[in-house]
Amino acid sequence: MTSTAVETPYLDRFRLSERRALVTGGGRGIGLAVCQALAEAGASVILTDRDAELAQNAAAGLRSRGLDVTAQPLDVTDQAAVEAMAGQVGALDILVNNAGIARSNIPAEKMNDDEWSSVIDINLNGLFWCCRSFGKRMLDQGNGCIVNVGSMSGYIVNRPQEQAQYNASKAAVHQLTKSLAAEWAPRGVRVNAVAPTYIETEMNAYVYEDENLMRHWIGGTPQGRMGRTDEVASVILFLASDAASLMTGSIVLADGGYTCW
Ligand code: NDP
Repeated sequence: MTSTAVETPYLDRFRLSERRALVTGGGRGIGLAVCQALAEAGASVILTDRDAELAQNAAAGLRSRGLDVTAQPLDVTDQAAVEAMAGQVGALDILVNNAGIARSNIPAEKMNDDEWSSVIDINLNGLFWCCRSFGKRMLDQGNGCIVNVGSMSGYIVNRPQEQAQYNASKAAVHQLTKSLAAEWAPRGVRVNAVAPTYIETEMNAYVYEDENLMRHWIGGTPQGRMGRTDEVASVILFLASDAASLMTGSIVLADGGYTCW
């Protein structure tokens, strides 16, 4: 059997010229790095965040580097707003579902309704509203690519901080990713996820004031350090590109080896 010759040079498969991308929670942290990565690869990027001013400032910063990035306010928990934006922006090639929150150090037996629901509403429900609204338009056009931001917390139970609702939300994101991948693969839409370790963002700012916590996190990581936002963005760039054309339903760990132990 002869294999089909692939004419595209390998490095060109990472290029996103002519592609339109939307990133949720793009105002800072991992989402902001993802906007930069996709735009540097040539995509036209819509940077969204629930904080309109944060989004505007972040997009302006990337434009000052010559990148094609515009800002839109979007709260992923607002189903109507998500659907309206999907209708407004038209055909997208890439969706990165990054918006998420963590609420840690809450023992499960003491967790109140809001501490549970707020995390599930953003990390799982909001991510699904985006997959549904933007995904159905990708299905209509017969192609598209979604990258969800999961977590190693979808595989392991973090310690010592208790965060059952966060861990459950990320495990659900992983299984949702696989479910959508299986449903949508025949219609040209790929759905993958990245599962990062502890990353240096505001979400984790509290670790710098807690030596014991930092010792657990770093001590539990074979690479002996936290990750940087650009190291997650690189993986998302790969998954969003044609270099990952055979990948759908994959949950790609970027965890410094944390899950090896
Ligand atoms: P940050 O808190 O630094 O940034 C998250 C951004 O998302 C903020 O701008 C935040 O806005 C925004 N956001 C929150 N809720 C919503 C919403 N409802 N709609 C739209 N935007 C929203 O987080 P990270 O960059 O660290 O995390 C990004 C993703 O990566 C999350 O899904 C997180 O779970 C995941 N992740 C993070 C890890 C880490 O160690 N940092 C490890 C593994 C996964 P606001 O300021 O208003 O909250």
